[in-house]
Amino acid sequence: MFRFQSQELPLNLINTQEMKRGKLVDHLQSVGNLKLWIEEMNANQLLEGYCSHIWKDTEIARAWLEEALPVIRDFRALLRKGLEAIADHGALGEGWVASLEEALEKAPLTFKYSGSRLDAIPVEKGPPGLISVIAYQTLTLYAEGKLQSVRRCSNPKCIWLFMDSTGKRKWCSMKICGNRMKAERHKQSVPTK
Ligand SMILES: [Zn+2]
Repeated sequence: MFRFQSQELPLNLINTQEMKRGKLVDHLQSVGNLKLWIEEMNANQLLEGYCSHIWKDTEIARAWLEEALPVIRDFRALLRKGLEAIADHGALGEGWVASLEEALEKAPLTFKYSGSRLDAIPVEKGPPGLISVIAYQTLTLYAEGKLQSVRRCSNPKCIWLFMDSTGKRKWCSMKICGNRMKAERHKQSVPTK
């Protein structure tokens, strides 16, 4: 369901929206979608241990997810705005970093050593805590100069963004857009009889 896969939470989050046959498809439309997304991020060790305390009780989980869904969708829109500004103009819009800092203030983090790295764990267990973890990762990428390599996919019909550390990458994914665009170009170059 979540076809875009990266090691970076903010990119995984914004790319839960995609274009399919010219239509915008949103994979975070229901609480069920959100649960699946969190579980998948968890399985990929990107949201380590997050929410495990919540899933035990179905009713608490449902209330948590219902509260979280609009919050995370709004945050996704904020993230996309910032990352598109980098991809299109090479600079962030005013106030973007401050908005992420505000999210962090609402739900401060603690850290847990996991053997090879530090996992950010929000003190607040409600949805703002989830936003805080993603805001923290986003600002870390920005501070490290990595977020500045965000690019749009070269397929004009694709809305996915990705990080291009090599300066050569053109597609969100070779498998999804790279091959498709190559095939299309090939079709155009073959004269029709
Ligand atoms: Zn693409």
